[in-house]
Amino acid sequence: MQGSDFSEAVRGATNAGGGFAQRLAAVESRIQAACEAAGRAREQVQLLAVSKFFPAEALAEAHAHGLRSFGESYIQEFAEKAAAVRQLAGVRVHLIGHLQSNKSRRAAELFDCIHTVDSLKLLRRLDEQRGELGLSPLEIFLEVKLSSEESKQGAAPAEVPELVAAARQAKNLQLRGLMTMPPLADAAEEARPYFRQLREMAEREGLQELSMGMSDDLEVAIAEGATMVRVGTALFGRRQ
Ligand SMILES: *Cc1c(COP(=O)(O)O)cnc(C)c1O
Repeated sequence: MQGSDFSEAVRGATNAGGGFAQRLAAVESRIQAACEAAGRAREQVQLLAVSKFFPAEALAEAHAHGLRSFGESYIQEFAEKAAAVRQLAGVRVHLIGHLQSNKSRRAAELFDCIHTVDSLKLLRRLDEQRGELGLSPLEIFLEVKLSSEESKQGAAPAEVPELVAAARQAKNLQLRGLMTMPPLADAAEEARPYFRQLREMAEREGLQELSMGMSDDLEVAIAEGATMVRVGTALFGRRQ
């Protein structure tokens, strides 16, 4: 078998509930195929393993298979796993869930990178608090809201230049790029216009990194320039 036949077969195995190694191989082959199709090098796309709702043991298993970057959505949930997860050598933990300003101190303490910075107030608090903690600069992505869906968090596109300028001035933050969540859709293709808009916005702002693409639409995201795909279900299985 070759090419897409192969990934279809591996995806079939994934759905049948194979082990972590099989699911990782399937995700890896999808990322490789998408990079190849887009004429991009595999090294240009980082895999963030989204481990929310899975116990520390699941992260340890992923770590044993070589994964080092994990995405978590809830501060309280990760706080409970942190002691175990921080024993794993070289682990980097990213907050990808919405962050309320009143929880910023805990987030500044627990995470290496935050993908959901979406207001000046939050940005300034994280900068100040990371400084007070005496830790290395906190990596951040600015989350941009590109759809009109009520439920989606993120800064309005018009606010992005001001946020970028503030992030660049912040002593205790390191701005990596932009992040977005397209609206829920039946088909991955529907996410393409949002991914493209995010890339164009990053180009205008001189930013290199794009956190976009999940289990169902990572190919489209990579085609549109994603540098970090956030993959949960395809790696760990369905969340309870
Ligand atoms: C849960 C989550 C993901 C992973 O979604 P899957 O469809 O399980 O891959 C990615 N990004 C964010 C912001 C999430 O909350």
